[in-house]
Amino acid sequence: MADTVPSVYVQLDYQALKHNARRLRQQAPDAKLLAVVKADAYGHGMTESAKALADEVDAFAVARVEEGVALRETGCRRRIVVLAGFANAEQLRECQSFKLEAVLHCPEQVHWLAAHGGEQPLPVWIKLDTGMNRLGFRPEQLSEVYAQLRTLSRIARPIHLMTHLACADDPTDAMTQRQLACFARARAQVAGECCIANSAAVLTWPDAYSDWLRPGLMLYGISPFPGQTGLELGLKPVMRLLARIIAIKPVYPGETVGYGGIWRCQKATRMAVVGIGYGDGYPREIAAHTPVWVAGRQVPIIGRVSMDMLTVDVSDCADARVGSEVVLWGGELPVERIAEAAGTIPYTLVCGLTRRVKRRG
Ligand SMILES: *Cc1c(COP(=O)(O)O)cnc(C)c1O
Repeated sequence: MADTVPSVYVQLDYQALKHNARRLRQQAPDAKLLAVVKADAYGHGMTESAKALADEVDAFAVARVEEGVALRETGCRRRIVVLAGFANAEQLRECQSFKLEAVLHCPEQVHWLAAHGGEQPLPVWIKLDTGMNRLGFRPEQLSEVYAQLRTLSRIARPIHLMTHLACADDPTDAMTQRQLACFARARAQVAGECCIANSAAVLTWPDAYSDWLRPGLMLYGISPFPGQTGLELGLKPVMRLLARIIAIKPVYPGETVGYGGIWRCQKATRMAVVGIGYGDGYPREIAAHTPVWVAGRQVPIIGRVSMDMLTVDVSDCADARVGSEVVLWGGELPVERIAEAAGTIPYTLVCGLTRRVKRRG
């Protein structure tokens, strides 16, 4: 069987995904869950993740119409919200035929609705820009847009309202307070349901709970806060990234390892070459001596990460052999810690795995 095991792969623990959804429910028992599964469920597999979550959440959110269509085509029957809405009249028709809910954030979308809306009344969410200055109508535009939408028979009633927080990971942030106050003034004008909180807000801003929570990262067991892991928040990591040792050899004092010769050997070292690199999505920017997990212990990366491999010091790991499994991140080694060592956030690591990384349930 060994020859059918891929060289580099992710293991995905869909029981952990369910656990994390329940953990979210505990946090805000009165709110409904809009599970964000965009970008292939943050690299965890949209189809499988949505199947695992089907009985745990109330609806799914994707970024783009294509993602919503793909999710519907796998048999998902839940409500599906497209966070960026439709980008032209054809996508509007796709929203209608695949029963996707559209977020409306710009006047062009209202125009397409008025000009091309089909028979099916489309459920919509108005996106209010409360200060992030990315997508959304400005607060002073809301009453006009809302009045305009209410004249359109192709829009389902009631019309819902959402916003997005820019700095929710800081529990004392004044901007978040201003955004929440702005939203509170607006929601009195709109009849439908409200949705504000991403993962960071779920954990720090109870005032942002409203009718729906809109978490992504937390579902995958990952913490949105620097310096804190999902495990510490009662979450379970869903993804484990694995590769294998493909060579072991000695390196002697004065020699260097890898491109640029940035690591120089001080004392005789037993080195292992691991068959994973930036061509798989492991970050090339990783700090020197960041650990990987081999044979029950952590060993440090030495030298530069290359496209297909990286090198580690296994002098203290007698059990390491050619063929030994190596964990790059997962339960043993939190992805939050690897992200910090790479000067990035865990979102980019889990989303950044390339197509040659196989997935196993
Ligand atoms: C991606 C996204 C989310 C989910 O954010 P997390 O930080 O992963 O919880 C919520 N809302 C919007 C608008 C998004 O684009």
